[in-house]
Amino acid sequence: MALVSIKVHGGAGEIGGNKILVSTNEAKVFLDFGTSFTTKRKFYGGFIKAKRFRILEEYILTGMLPELSGIYREDLLGNLNHLRSDVPSVDACIITHAHLDHCGHISLLRPDIKFYVGATAAILLEAREETKTSKEPEDQIIKVKDYRDGRIFKRQMETFSTGKKLNIENINVTPIHVDHSTPSSYGLILELDNVRVVYTSDFRLHGPMRKMTEDFIEHASADDVDVLIIEGTRISDPSIHSEESVLLSMKNSLKDTQGKAAVALIGLLDFDRLKSLISAAEYADRKLALSPKLAYVINCLEKRATNIQVPKLTNDMLSVYLEPSGSGGYEPEKNYRGWLRKFLEECQDVGVHLVTPEELAKQKDRYILTLCQSEDLPELVSIRPEPGSIFLFSSSEPHNEEQEIEREKVINWLELLGMRPVHVHASGHASQGEIIGTIERMSPKMVIPVHTEHPEMFKGLLEKQGIGSKVIEPPKSHEIIV
Ligand SMILES: [Zn+2]
Repeated sequence: MALVSIKVHGGAGEIGGNKILVSTNEAKVFLDFGTSFTTKRKFYGGFIKAKRFRILEEYILTGMLPELSGIYREDLLGNLNHLRSDVPSVDACIITHAHLDHCGHISLLRPDIKFYVGATAAILLEAREETKTSKEPEDQIIKVKDYRDGRIFKRQMETFSTGKKLNIENINVTPIHVDHSTPSSYGLILELDNVRVVYTSDFRLHGPMRKMTEDFIEHASADDVDVLIIEGTRISDPSIHSEESVLLSMKNSLKDTQGKAAVALIGLLDFDRLKSLISAAEYADRKLALSPKLAYVINCLEKRATNIQVPKLTNDMLSVYLEPSGSGGYEPEKNYRGWLRKFLEECQDVGVHLVTPEELAKQKDRYILTLCQSEDLPELVSIRPEPGSIFLFSSSEPHNEEQEIEREKVINWLELLGMRPVHVHASGHASQGEIIGTIERMSPKMVIPVHTEHPEMFKGLLEKQGIGSKVIEPPKSHEIIV
């Protein structure tokens, strides 16, 4: 049997920040390389930011990143000369989906380490990066700026879809789609000589695309599973709220809201939620007025993604909100620059309905203003919702898969304006029963819980169910030999 080493460098005892290094005698592969928001929140935020020249030194010291040589960008290593190397020490990095807690810190890896990602997830990564105002090192997943000579270039990337085999020396990886709160999410099946390692990454069995997760479990259980690396975000939570129940409560909340404004805050990459919101809007005889950022991401997917159904912006149900620029203007050719100007001009050309703040303020009950980040909240000042207007609080998980939703500040704005918050949410993560059921079906020899604050719960829950798999709670960066 081949000797396989697994080190959980991130995602051990914490939700997100997954960085799992799988090594054989011939190859080394990272499964995900996400940002650890738990550690980042602990040391940074508000006015506290890492200095660019020292970013790796700071992040390694705080434990956000592992101290490994030959993996980081040489232009950012600063004083860390012991981590420099002529050649990369890792062969590849495989990204399971576009949430930042799984891919954010690819931005700090050396660009000659190739990364693999789902084809649609690659479009999402590019679209999100283009719309970012900040171009600091951590915003450089796709395009890298080498600070030694100012050169800007694209990182090496290869895309995959379900069933495509990736061969990295003697590590063979088969990605299979799973259902999660963003499209193009994958579980991975690794074959390393005669050792089979399965990595679920983030998944659920209660979402609209649960059949995809079923496909993954079926493929994974077709042969013996030696090691199962499984997410446990909700291992302590047996409840299940489906996307269908989200739609129902959205519809209920929008009943009898004539004359009142409606605003929704949803995750930028959560297309299931967007579809539910469109259905609810249709029911309430309203249209969505999308924030430009959200509209741009939808437009990129609609134009380029081949295996996902995305609504066209010219659809009667959709319009784009002309978010005023800093000076208050909103004429595309005069008041905007960069991607936003290009995008809004294109919208004008193809006849996408653009809604001005005045129109939105006058026709409050004709629209649902749809925002995707808490920094858009002050837009409410232009609309002046009546007290009792509705706010559908429907962003992604509270643990920052995409960005920090500043809940406290959102609530303050709603209180100020007398808006009624309605929390509608279905988790992107498997419930306790779904996690244990998945382990039972794969019946692995060994289980490594990641992406959870409660790895200690697995052992007892498996024993209760009579499942004989050995649970290894991974201490951070500790080597597990198979
Ligand atoms: Zn995720």
